[in-house]
Amino acid sequence: MDLNQILETLRVAQLPMRSKFRGITTREVALFEGPAGWGEFSPFLEYDDIESANWLKSAVEAATVYNFPSFRSSIKINGTIPATDSAEEIERLIVSYPGAEVFKVKVGTNTDSDLARLKLVKKFAPAAKLRIDVNGSWSVDEALQNIERIYSEIGEFEYVEQPVSDLDSLKRLKERLKVNVKIAGDEVIRKASDPFSMNLDGAVDILMLKVAPLAGIKRSLAIAEHHNLPMVVSSALESAVGMSHGLRLAAALPKLDYACGLATGSLFTSDLATHEIRDGAISLTSQTPNLEALARFAAPPERLEWWRERIKRCWEVLG
Ligand SMILES: [Mg+2]
Repeated sequence: MDLNQILETLRVAQLPMRSKFRGITTREVALFEGPAGWGEFSPFLEYDDIESANWLKSAVEAATVYNFPSFRSSIKINGTIPATDSAEEIERLIVSYPGAEVFKVKVGTNTDSDLARLKLVKKFAPAAKLRIDVNGSWSVDEALQNIERIYSEIGEFEYVEQPVSDLDSLKRLKERLKVNVKIAGDEVIRKASDPFSMNLDGAVDILMLKVAPLAGIKRSLAIAEHHNLPMVVSSALESAVGMSHGLRLAAALPKLDYACGLATGSLFTSDLATHEIRDGAISLTSQTPNLEALARFAAPPERLEWWRERIKRCWEVLG
């Protein structure tokens, strides 16, 4: 696939969000069509070209590769709860993940409201397991204190994702942590300049894989094999089209013991296709964008132009 083929079929959509997530209320995504289907290129707007180039590689893979390994046809998902204080919103979101047995809750800014949010999730989904995602915002000392406090107030939870920001802090935290809580690494691998060169021993127990930031299924599988840790596949807030690629990655992992964060479509008011959640799982289907939705949510021409230029620059990065 060459650059012209990407630009010729390029569409940009602005998807309205039900809940504010990562500080945004509209998710802008670019899509293009290749011989094997549609690829989604949707690095967040503030990402630079070097980081975004991985996303382009993943999108090209989605549009050009026909077959990937497949060990399962349905993927267990977790519900994702953004950093909200609204009980109404939390209840509404939980219902939007039918049958989910696990909820991932965004925390990190204020432990009192984090605890209130976690207790609400427990109230509305009493049988569900919880995991929390800090996005690296705690210091080692804060992490020790907050994890112990959360553990003592809500009881066991599945894991804490990226409690501190870097590899060295993760190691120091793990050394000192007294309570039995697993640690998952996300940014530590996703933002690494070389995810193969780092030694994650004594730093994390679980690794998050996000297909677009890690440059596609082939490379994600290589990273998983290299680190040999339990994996969780998660989204980067893609539309249903990009999500299909994440689902294919989850299907392609020989071993998958945890529910995956691939149901973030529930955070959108509307999506470009449908991934139905049934009994806490999503079936693997390849998704083509709904043309009517593409037209309805089409970005203005100046945004299309912005994405065209961004793709050209990322294409150059990929060489
Ligand atoms: Mg995360």
